[in-house]
Amino acid sequence: MLSVRMTAIALLWLMAGPDFAAAQAPASGGPVDAALIEDLVAANRILADQGVLDAYGHVSIRHPANPNRYLVSRAMSPANVTAADIMEFDLDSNPVDQRGRSMFLERFIHGEIYKVRPDVNSVIHSHSPAVIPFGITKVPLRPVFHTAAFLYVGVPVFEIRDAGGTTDMLVRNAALAHALAATLGDKPVALMRGHGNVVVGPNVKRATIRAVYTEVDARLQTVALGLGGPINYLSPEEGALREKNPGEEGRAWDGWKEKALRK
Ligand SMILES: [Zn+2]
Repeated sequence: MLSVRMTAIALLWLMAGPDFAAAQAPASGGPVDAALIEDLVAANRILADQGVLDAYGHVSIRHPANPNRYLVSRAMSPANVTAADIMEFDLDSNPVDQRGRSMFLERFIHGEIYKVRPDVNSVIHSHSPAVIPFGITKVPLRPVFHTAAFLYVGVPVFEIRDAGGTTDMLVRNAALAHALAATLGDKPVALMRGHGNVVVGPNVKRATIRAVYTEVDARLQTVALGLGGPINYLSPEEGALREKNPGEEGRAWDGWKEKALRK
C-alpha cells in the first residue's frame, strides 16, 4: 500500500515537475533595450563608487514595456554587476527565469513600491551610512544645499517594529515591504531605522542622483549640527522652486559613470 502511494506520488511529481515550475513562473515583459540595461549596470557601479551602496544594497528599474515587471541584479556586490547578472521579477517579486541564480532577500522592497507608485521607474535600497543617525534620533533629515532640494517635502522614517514587531531588521517579505512603501508614501526618500534608506525616481539616473545627494546632504547636515546653533535650511519654497527645474541628469551621471567604470 505504502509503495503504491509512493509510486503515485513519484508519478505525480514526474508529471508536474518542470512543467509545474514553468507554469508558476511569471511571463517575461519582453526584451529590454541594451542601453537601459547598461544604465542599470552603471547605476550599480556609480552607487558603489560613490559610497552609497555597500556590499548589500540594490538598484532596480521598472520594465519599460510591462509596468508589472522589474529588473534587478542577482544577489551580488553592486560593484561587480554586469548586464548578464540582471534578472526580471513580477511585482510579487517572483523570478521570471531564475536559472538557479540567488536573489536578494529584500527584493520585495522594489515590487511593493512599484505597486503603489506608478510615477516611479527606479528604486534604490541602500545602507547609505550618513543617513543612519537621522533614522535613530528625532532629528529630521532636511535639505541643507540646493542639490538635495528634493528633500524639502520631508523624509519619513520607517519603523520596522511597527510593521513586524521584533525582526532581524531585514525587509524579507511582501508584508514588511508593503509597510515600508506606505511609509514612503509619495516622497522621494524614506529612511529605515537602524538600516538605511529607499530612494525612488522617475528614471534610474534621477534616482541615482537623489541617492548620492541624500548621502551627501546627511553628511553636511551632521557637520552643521555639530557646529551648533540654529541651521538655515532651504525653505520649502526654495526647495519647490529648485525641484520645478532640477536640471538634466547627464552632467552628474556621465562624470560619475566614467569614474566608476574606469576601475
Ligand atoms: Zn538592507
